[in-house]
Amino acid sequence: MDWQSAKALRDKIRASEISSVAATKAVFERIVKVEPIIGAYISTFEEAALQKAAEVNSRIAKGEPVGQLAGVPVAIKDNMCTTFGATTCASKILENFRAPYNATVIEKLLSADAVIIGKTNMDEFAMGSSTENSGLKQTVNPWDTSRVPGGSSGGSAAAVAGRLCCASLGSDTGGSIRQPASFCGVVGLKPTYGRVSRFGLVAYGSSLDQIGPITRTVGDCALMMNVIAGYDPADSTSIDEETAPVPDYLEKLDEPIEGLKIAIVPEFVSGADKQVQKALSVALDVYKGLGAEIIEIEMAHLDYAIAAYYVIATAEASSNLARYDGVHYGHRTKNPKDYIEVYSKSRAEGFGKEVKRRIMLGTYALSSGYYDAYYLKALKVRNLIRGDFTKAFENCDCIMMPVSPTTAFKIGEKVDDPLTMYLSDIYTIAVNLAGVPGISIPCGFDSDNLPIGLQILSPAFSEDRLLRIARMFEKETDWHRKKPAIIN
Ligand code: GLN
Repeated sequence: MDWQSAKALRDKIRASEISSVAATKAVFERIVKVEPIIGAYISTFEEAALQKAAEVNSRIAKGEPVGQLAGVPVAIKDNMCTTFGATTCASKILENFRAPYNATVIEKLLSADAVIIGKTNMDEFAMGSSTENSGLKQTVNPWDTSRVPGGSSGGSAAAVAGRLCCASLGSDTGGSIRQPASFCGVVGLKPTYGRVSRFGLVAYGSSLDQIGPITRTVGDCALMMNVIAGYDPADSTSIDEETAPVPDYLEKLDEPIEGLKIAIVPEFVSGADKQVQKALSVALDVYKGLGAEIIEIEMAHLDYAIAAYYVIATAEASSNLARYDGVHYGHRTKNPKDYIEVYSKSRAEGFGKEVKRRIMLGTYALSSGYYDAYYLKALKVRNLIRGDFTKAFENCDCIMMPVSPTTAFKIGEKVDDPLTMYLSDIYTIAVNLAGVPGISIPCGFDSDNLPIGLQILSPAFSEDRLLRIARMFEKETDWHRKKPAIIN
């Protein structure tokens, strides 16, 4: 079967031109062929998926209404709770954890009639930028199997790029949707903090985490947002729809923004690899050709984003991960001497190296005596960064910059050097600190034929405009149509 965008497939399934069962079978045939190489999934649900697909088919045959994702094969990052299968967060500590409820986004996907193919690999507890921190398996980049897919939603991005699903969900705490999307040549959107419910998303940095779609096209991203966005009383940080109404993200998608004003931050971008910088400037030329105005701005505090993020995210993580104690959840050590050993050994055995490093960093930053010097200071820096964005958006519609300073790096290249790994998030992290939305779209390839992403940022709750801006570029280019050789 010819591969389709999620939206095109959905339309054909609804029109009975393609059967959802056939589409789902085609996905599982590809999984048999390519998944042993790519390793995108932690678990798959072939039987349940085919059952759901058959149910959608039969409802369509009877003329009954079906949802917005009728029969479309989708994948979910394995940090979203599902009552079916395990929810592992790619951690040994949760390897056999069965969630008692579905995350809100899962309920929404199911009621939109999506066919859930499986749950994808990730950095353990979403801590990382390469998916190498997974405690369970290795995922590779479909464009070059000696390279990382990015992270932490590396499995979700590789699954879309490798055509092992039509669309997927990732989560983004400091870049984990946008960076793997850019490394794998697909589209990834981190919505505004509060736009998509986090209920049932295993918490990493609660004030930064946000669920969002990874897709092949901007239109598919809009379609996924139509399904997952909105207020959820079960998530106290989700924003009510009177304050911020949820638009139909597809409705005006093809209407370009008149008089588009784009800001760039030249000084900040100058550290990126030359080929990445070149791709950005070529992308800006495309927008200029469409009548956009480009202005140069300064954002004084961006250089401090990584430092502030790694204090705030690790502090929140140390608190969030305290619940894995060998009693409430997951792995428990065998034959502990006493209850202290239940805690210490269960945690020592269950958590990987990076997770332990972050728990220790975060606990240190929160400890009395250091709280003011680190945590409180980082919160102040966060405010300044937020202010930078507010000020910038007074004068422009969006900001454009690279997603990552480099393209996908080699497996093993940075894994022993956490600081270098942390620095690879320089362009994505400030966005989470500010809470604004950001999208990564394919904008070229480097000399090794590795995808390069363009990052576009816009004010809080303006995802509809952000998607339209991204769509303007997509219409003019065909980067999103390129396929990795592995699936040809
Ligand atoms: N790479 C960043 C980190 O390791 C971001 C991860 C994420 O967005 N989940 O924390």
